Amino acid sequence: VCGDHLQMCEWRKYPSPMTQSLIDNDVEQEAIDALMHTMEGSVESYRRYLRLKAKLMGLKKLGNWDIVAPLPKAPEKKYTWEESRREVVAAYKSFDPEWAAWVDEMYGRRHIDGEVRKGKRSGAFCATWLAGKSAYVLQSFNGQMGDVYTQAHELGHAVHAYLGGRNQKPSNYEIGSCIAECGSVFGELLLTDRLLAAVKTMEEKQAVIATVLDEFGMAAYQVSARVFFEKSMYDAIKAGKFLDGETVSSLWTAGRDKIYGDAVEWLPEMKWEWTMKVHYYIPNYRFYNYPYVYAQLFVFALYRLYKEQGKAFVPKMKTLLAAGSSRSPTELAKDIGFDVTSENFWRKGIQQFEELVDQLESTM
Ligand SMILES: [Zn+2]
Repeated sequence: VCGDHLQMCEWRKYPSPMTQSLIDNDVEQEAIDALMHTMEGSVESYRRYLRLKAKLMGLKKLGNWDIVAPLPKAPEKKYTWEESRREVVAAYKSFDPEWAAWVDEMYGRRHIDGEVRKGKRSGAFCATWLAGKSAYVLQSFNGQMGDVYTQAHELGHAVHAYLGGRNQKPSNYEIGSCIAECGSVFGELLLTDRLLAAVKTMEEKQAVIATVLDEFGMAAYQVSARVFFEKSMYDAIKAGKFLDGETVSSLWTAGRDKIYGDAVEWLPEMKWEWTMKVHYYIPNYRFYNYPYVYAQLFVFALYRLYKEQGKAFVPKMKTLLAAGSSRSPTELAKDIGFDVTSENFWRKGIQQFEELVDQLESTM
């Protein structure tokens, strides 16, 4: 599949194996280079978090099976449906009353299928309705803190769809993958600030912060390792290497170690982890990965800007979400005064991450 892709790139005179995906995602190579440099340059921040987490778990070092494990002393706090509604709506309200009203309307219309029942599919998603009329959310609500986060996340997608659907034409209301998490993860960060302001114990505080940092770690850092891996495969083919299983595995672990360094202990079998990633076998769908990193760091950077600019940022954020796909991610960032080809913008996202790591460290 990779060899065919390189051949196609040559015929089409694409400058890089990433070009096709850049066209699909409406982004530029310079932006992705700046993004990936920022990720590579900030690995120590992630490793610092992983070492703190090991300490909280009473371990010398995390095993790969511990990376997203819940903290052992996390309180078993349960939320009722009404409590979850109150927290999520209030979190959105702290940012903008109109957003909060839309979120509350989703509960009022009973458009959130949260019931746990036999045969229901797992996971969660938000399905949008014609012209931003409303949306529907599916999840299985068990009253855990993670379920409240999922609710805030999916309702953020609903807000994003309301704004895009109502302001754009059917041909350009759809949201591209690089900016797909702007509403959802922003909502999660609003919820985080609300929950942190109300925590009563250190363990509770640690549990809230670890939930957010684990998610960021997976979507931004772990997926970055996969970008490095995929790049190195094309380089290896170009250099005339034969990609047998062991060679691919060594490229996989090299990409992985660039992110995790010595902060995590891996089972030897994990060198074969790439075989489970279905994306690598899908022809004509290369570099599925960096849009996840983009989306995650983009929204963390936006949240940082909100923290810096306060209420002045609210209309900018609403305009951004209302743009659908009528403007590229680069133009959207430019509208709020930022250049995505500069590492300065992406660093803002890392600062937001680091601030949470600092907060965690201060509890220990
Ligand atoms: Zn999402």
